[in-house]
Amino acid sequence: MMQTKHNWTKEEILAIYNKPMMELLYDAATVHRANHNPNQVQVSTLLSIKTGGCPEDCGYCPQAARYHTDIEGNDLMSVSQVKAQALRAKSSGSSRVCMGAAWRNVKDGPEFDSVLEMVRTINKLEMEVCCTLGMITENQAQRLAEAGLYAYNHNLDTSEDYYKDVISTRAFQDRLDTIENVRKTNVTVCSGGIIGMGEAVEDRAGMLVALASLSPQPESTPINALVPVEGTPLEEIAPVSIWEMIRMVATTRIVLPNTQVRLSAGRTQMSQEGQAMCFFAGANSIFAGDKLLTTPNPDVHEDMKLFELLGLQPMKPFVKKDQPQSVEAQYSKYKDQAEKPKWTRPDHKIERNELAKAKAKL
Ligand code: SF4
Repeated sequence: MMQTKHNWTKEEILAIYNKPMMELLYDAATVHRANHNPNQVQVSTLLSIKTGGCPEDCGYCPQAARYHTDIEGNDLMSVSQVKAQALRAKSSGSSRVCMGAAWRNVKDGPEFDSVLEMVRTINKLEMEVCCTLGMITENQAQRLAEAGLYAYNHNLDTSEDYYKDVISTRAFQDRLDTIENVRKTNVTVCSGGIIGMGEAVEDRAGMLVALASLSPQPESTPINALVPVEGTPLEEIAPVSIWEMIRMVATTRIVLPNTQVRLSAGRTQMSQEGQAMCFFAGANSIFAGDKLLTTPNPDVHEDMKLFELLGLQPMKPFVKKDQPQSVEAQYSKYKDQAEKPKWTRPDHKIERNELAKAKAKL
């Protein structure tokens, strides 16, 4: 494992991002080979366990209730539905299941108890379990850890500066606070962001400065390309080019040498050659399944064909860290505290988010 540097400056990262492409690829691939098996790629399945109706105003997200996009919402899935989906994912080569719920933050109560049971159930299938449930307190993070959670996803999304142009219902610091709560447990951190939301290249570098400064750095970093969805405030933004995606993946690999860099949303717009370049530049994780929460994703059989073509193997679970033990609910040390934490409500508004909300009401 390479020693990590936490004090990257934006200028240093921009200098890497803007290198001539062949040099950038060579440097990133060198870091990748020193820290990872370049022929192994983790395959994860993202499962939307509760879709739509979210009170937040993330400008890219069709699940925000205020934009009235045409996604079909659903209440929290049952534990048996989740188990069936996890078994299906395992049989098609996934080693990790990431469960996403469109919540602002976790609330103690029966729904969270049910999520804890889902975590126990998937962990017993010997798959890595990840959750992305919004903001969580330390006690909630401890309860997830005790249930056998392997990773918690909480993306920074973009730089602190640009964050205020995308989301107004919670602050950048709230993201960092949740990550800190997760870090008080033995659960690993998954945190990354989205490119192509109208941000400057400096913002991409700024996000990497923030991720690199976390100590330890995230074990997993998703790099998403915005998939513009009709009805959301970012619906008209043109997709990023594959070259920007390759530059971002390569730079992430160099700045976060030990993380699993995950190619996430936006893969349907990438050619096989483009994805191969991303793997060469250091991406070593993908999401499988025909949907990424609500946006399209390549079919898993297509992914497996690409793996065969490139001689890649799906990574086994628990390669980087041992499987956690699941403690049954009746033996839990951490109780439901019926917490009502005060998460921030920043007082700025984002004009394009307000316009999209107003348009949805017409
Ligand atoms: S990204 Fe998450 S928090 Fe933001 S609106 Fe969508 S579901 Fe809600």
